[in-house]
Amino acid sequence: MNRTNPRSASTLDGMSLICVSIFVDSPDDVPTAIARASDAVAEGARMIEWRLDAVAEDPDGLPAILELLRSSPAPCIATIRAEAEGGTWDGNEQDRISLLEAMGTAADPPAYLDLEQAAWARSANLRQKVRLAIDHEAQIRDISSRLIVSSHDFGGRPANLLARVAEMIENDACAVGKIVFTARSVRDNLEIFDLLTERQKPMIALCMGEFGEMSRVLAPKFGGFLTFAASDARTTTAPGQLTTRELREVFRFDSIKPSTRVYGLVGHPIGHSRGPVLHNRGFEAVDHDGVYLRIPVTPGWESFKASLIQLIEHPKLDFSGCSVTHPHKENLVRLVRELGGEIDEASDRISAANTLVIEDSGRIRCLNTDVAAAVQSFAAGSGRDATALRGMRVAVFGAGGVARAVVYGLIRAGAEVRVFNRTRDRGEAMQRDLEAWGRVTFAGGFQAFESRDFEGLVNCTPLGMQGGPVSEESCLGEATTFPEGFVVMDTVYAPRRTPLLRIAEAQGVPVVEGIEMFRLQAERQFAAWTGSSAPHGLFDSLLDVPKSNSA
Ligand code: NAP
Repeated sequence: MNRTNPRSASTLDGMSLICVSIFVDSPDDVPTAIARASDAVAEGARMIEWRLDAVAEDPDGLPAILELLRSSPAPCIATIRAEAEGGTWDGNEQDRISLLEAMGTAADPPAYLDLEQAAWARSANLRQKVRLAIDHEAQIRDISSRLIVSSHDFGGRPANLLARVAEMIENDACAVGKIVFTARSVRDNLEIFDLLTERQKPMIALCMGEFGEMSRVLAPKFGGFLTFAASDARTTTAPGQLTTRELREVFRFDSIKPSTRVYGLVGHPIGHSRGPVLHNRGFEAVDHDGVYLRIPVTPGWESFKASLIQLIEHPKLDFSGCSVTHPHKENLVRLVRELGGEIDEASDRISAANTLVIEDSGRIRCLNTDVAAAVQSFAAGSGRDATALRGMRVAVFGAGGVARAVVYGLIRAGAEVRVFNRTRDRGEAMQRDLEAWGRVTFAGGFQAFESRDFEGLVNCTPLGMQGGPVSEESCLGEATTFPEGFVVMDTVYAPRRTPLLRIAEAQGVPVVEGIEMFRLQAERQFAAWTGSSAPHGLFDSLLDVPKSNSA
């Protein structure tokens, strides 16, 4: 009977593993590759994939490969990936099979040999040789490699996806099936989860690319055999791959299990968000069985609606809520309205929400935590509590999504707001839409602003934002002077001290950083999902927010 390699992953505890792929270019790279593998294991990887595409083409490659197998610090997969499936091996197929055979029959065989389903199907001779490598040795030495039969598609979901999976299942030499393709949207991950749920043998099923991250993180929830990770961001071996550190420290990979609830940030682009760090650390601190992901959804109502409905309705995903950011805040209100859910007063009145909650009963609701967060941070910065904003004269720059939340919050608190915006139509629309709820008027372009007419100012444009089109600019000139008691807030939070805040600070004016509003809105979301407050000071420390920057 075929006994597995004692260094095989199947001798581990059956949990999803983190496997780090390491490319080995030449025999000279072997010591470095082994050192990198040892570092990866120290960081939490439990399997190494030796990517031998290049070294296998070297005339002195085989001894180097055998040395890698001997010295591998963890159970390993040996892969010589063909060009047609994303590798670099363009040698002769017979040579490749001879190398696989030599590895499979080596003194220290790899736990797994990887071969593409397409190659397996192409040649009877090849099948025979690979079988020899995995079976024959087992009879002689009671030890063998096992076969991962793989299929990759970098162009998107293969049309014959299900047929490919069926072939792997029917292939009796296949110990583990591996199916990997580039996700076209987050919806493709859901099909991967269905394949894992219905698997008839161990499976690696992952989506590549920006939209596939969810499948990499959630492998343990759906019983995936492993997920691939990079040892550092420069050495990823497939698009969208995370590092071992990100998987374990940001997404708490080791604590994800079938019951884990799924949350995330929906928007586009979202790569820069601090949300995953905050919420996942918060879940850990209050012992909430949840994971918060990045869920990119491209602009447009149709893509938002299709993605969210499929996430909500997936029977095994346990999707329990999300943060929603640009450009989908208005779409969230529209969706919850269409689904007959509950919309909080602020979201309803400004037609934009940033939080979706899905309760165990299936009831869905959306809320806008930006509104209260903006008022609370602005009031604290001006040394008042929110009830003391009544009658305060505040200028708001910008008339986009964030401006609506800020203006609505301020006028509900009794402040008198005048809006300055580059585009007249949008400024006028803001006045029209919100004037029923308090005192707000559109005042014109930025040049119409006179600081002496106000006691405070909030910037709601992206001016001064790192990586934005106008990162060095401020909505006010450096020569602007401010009257006594003035407060300046910027909603931009990267950098924390924006050009606008630097101008104000240089004159001793109290300033409020956008990160404070960000923290407060995130804390409210956290409480809505978990029913618990984020532990005192946790989000502060993760964002490194100063306790108070009021004068
Ligand atoms: P948005 O809906 O696109 O609105 C952008 C606003 O800025 C519009 O009024 C636009 O004017 C104006 N604007 C854009 N570029 C400008 C320029 N070059 N010169 C003058 N005005 C310009 O964006 P949003 O969702 O409201 O986000 C705005 C900013 O808020 C973001 O950049 C982000 O930094 C910040 N933000 C902060 C938080 C937080 O929690 N602190 C949360 C979300 C966003 P027009 O009407 O003329 O186009």
